[in-house]
Amino acid sequence: MTITDTSATSTTDSAVPVIAHWIDGAERPSTSGRTAPVFNPATGAVQAHVALADQAEIDAAIASADAGFRVWSGYSIAKRQSVLFAFREILNARKLELAEIITAEHGKVVSDAMGEILRGQEVVELATGFPHLIKGAFSENASSGIDVYSLKQPLGVVGVISPFNFPVMVPLWFVPIAIAAGNAVVLKPSEKDPSAALWLARVWKEAGLPDGVFTVLQGDKAAVDGLLNSRVVQSISFVGSTPIAQYIYETASKNGKRVQALGGAKNHMLVLPDADLDLVADQAVNAGFGAAGERCMAISVVLAVEPVADDLIAKITERIAALKIGNGAGVDGVEPDMGPLITDVHRDKVSSYVDIAEADGATIVVDGRGFTVDGHEDGFFFGPTLIDGLPTTSRAYTEEIFGPVLSVVRVDSYDEGLALINSGEFGNGTAIFTNDGGAARRFQNEVQVGMIGINVPIPVPVAYHSFGGWKKSLFGDAKAYGVHGFDFFTREKAITSRWIDPATRNDSTHGGINL
Ligand code: NAD
Repeated sequence: MTITDTSATSTTDSAVPVIAHWIDGAERPSTSGRTAPVFNPATGAVQAHVALADQAEIDAAIASADAGFRVWSGYSIAKRQSVLFAFREILNARKLELAEIITAEHGKVVSDAMGEILRGQEVVELATGFPHLIKGAFSENASSGIDVYSLKQPLGVVGVISPFNFPVMVPLWFVPIAIAAGNAVVLKPSEKDPSAALWLARVWKEAGLPDGVFTVLQGDKAAVDGLLNSRVVQSISFVGSTPIAQYIYETASKNGKRVQALGGAKNHMLVLPDADLDLVADQAVNAGFGAAGERCMAISVVLAVEPVADDLIAKITERIAALKIGNGAGVDGVEPDMGPLITDVHRDKVSSYVDIAEADGATIVVDGRGFTVDGHEDGFFFGPTLIDGLPTTSRAYTEEIFGPVLSVVRVDSYDEGLALINSGEFGNGTAIFTNDGGAARRFQNEVQVGMIGINVPIPVPVAYHSFGGWKKSLFGDAKAYGVHGFDFFTREKAITSRWIDPATRNDSTHGGINL
């Protein structure tokens, strides 16, 4: 089913604005002469260009952040906390405005954009409690007259590099914690949806954050490499595809930086025969097709332990038929269930994986190739796709597709399903659906994946736990947010201190104490 939007327009290149950097507390137009197009994925129109930084702009951004750090790290805890609370209040009050910016550049439906903001806001709220999380520890009289204590100090200038699929949530996994801990952040957003970062910058300023503490450096590989190679930048927090995560991890480590490097995923849902199949079908459709499958925690494979596969495929097919696909902004107040993909290039890549599955012998039960939306014929839409009998040797099974393509793989036992999950190269998220608590408990113990859902399809941990996968979904061991986040953005000092008691000291003043 489709939604028709008659408001679709096309914009010519000469008319479109250029999205700037945010440096020294203000928008800074680019001088590099390099830009990239920013599309409205629902219409296919170029709605803006984004600046792509050159070395002079990279240097200016880092220098401004360095100056900002010197000011901000001297602020009292109480003053820093008041800025965080103000930021949280403004974000909360104006989040619909931000959601509409996300939808216009990413394409996801507005309610889903609101959802990502809420998940980011959770981290802001966690960060407001930072005094408790960075207060260090004290051991009195560790040895006679000797106290040992620890301080947690900020790193300095830290770099955050984010992917297109969560232009607000992913930056907010890192930025509030880094800032709360006294660091200055340079954010390099995805060049595909760069405007949300500028909105966040304006709100930080409004909240009272000094200039230079939050900087937005727009760009591509050159900007990323500028951060990786800078001696001033102390750490890199990256979220994106696995090959780039690996490059970031290796390069930043070689350059002596701390690294958080989160990569791609291929998430399985294991359905045991005792599961409630209506619940499973609902959740598989939400987790497979929400945000058009452009989520690192999306479910892309359903492992159906026989004899449930036929029933489950029928139930999923029925639900797919009811999905509405259209402009994520909605039409006349009616929002679709799913918007377009981010670019035509990405749509064609997703489509090629369905071709591969078919060529490898799979059955395409619901085929989203060639899908169009009335009034949006140039939009980057791809219909929800359901595949049955996908051979596990197919690249459509082993590789991340990152689109609305759900594959069902039939297995004969829990053990066969578990072995398939554990043989994959990714380990981001997984889920088991069963009414057997013992089986679920065994699964959580045996599965080689970082985040596990039990009758929950997208188990993104709440802000006070930490987010991170295993294997090629996370390089190194530094996870995002939660206690891991505060540890990452602070450097610990351990101090061993001896103050000699005046009574045993050989001086006449005794520190002014009457002995
Ligand atoms: P991407 O790797 O293409 O881009 C991520 C960032 O890296 C962007 O800011 C981009 O400008 C930059 N970049 C791209 N190519 C680069 C290069 N050659 N050198 C240096 N920097 C480069 O990822 P994407 O397409 O924006 O996002 C989708 C991917 O992100 C998917 O693989 C998805 O699974 C993953 N992702 C993972 C998580 C997680 O938590 N593990 C969360 C969200 C997205």
